Amino acid sequence: MEYYSSHITKLIEQFAHLPGIGAKSAQRLAFHIINMPREQVKTLTDTISQARENVRYCKICCTLTDQEICPICANDRRDHTTIMVVENTRDLAAYEKTGKYEGVYHVLHGAISPMLGIGPDDIRLKELMQRLQTEDIREVIIATNSSLEGETTAMYLSKLIKPAGIRVSRIASGVPVGGDLEYIDEVTLLRALDGRTEL
Ligand code: ZN
Repeated sequence: MEYYSSHITKLIEQFAHLPGIGAKSAQRLAFHIINMPREQVKTLTDTISQARENVRYCKICCTLTDQEICPICANDRRDHTTIMVVENTRDLAAYEKTGKYEGVYHVLHGAISPMLGIGPDDIRLKELMQRLQTEDIREVIIATNSSLEGETTAMYLSKLIKPAGIRVSRIASGVPVGGDLEYIDEVTLLRALDGRTEL
């Protein structure tokens, strides 16, 4: 038997597919939407569609952006010989907020995890290797998380890049183990960057 209208049931199902949303939250969100003014619901759905339609991967660093080349890669005043490798665009944003990092980035969109079956080909690693071959790069700073996956990725990257004669460094372990970079305060991030060690 259906407890709700089929529309509400469908809405709850859709919300429940989203990360971090359990059955209870999905239900709460669905009822919230039903009670919202129609105009506000339209703005919400339009915003979602437009974001999905218009956001793409930067051709150079793979971050999420509105243009073909993101504003960081397009900025001549950045140091294009230093690449910081991060797991996702949120981590990039965390470092950008400090306003102290002048190099550019590469966003992997994930980390290697043998346990979850995520291999090197499942993240944006090929794109990074291509950059290292075609651009003049002096240093690659590996700023993946200090989780098992982040460390595995760092080791893998270092083994891959070092033979090319490019300096590879790892941000200091002041970043708490398993901590997502985006939740760490700016001072800790900068300390981790300044205290990076060569691999
Ligand atoms: Zn870019």
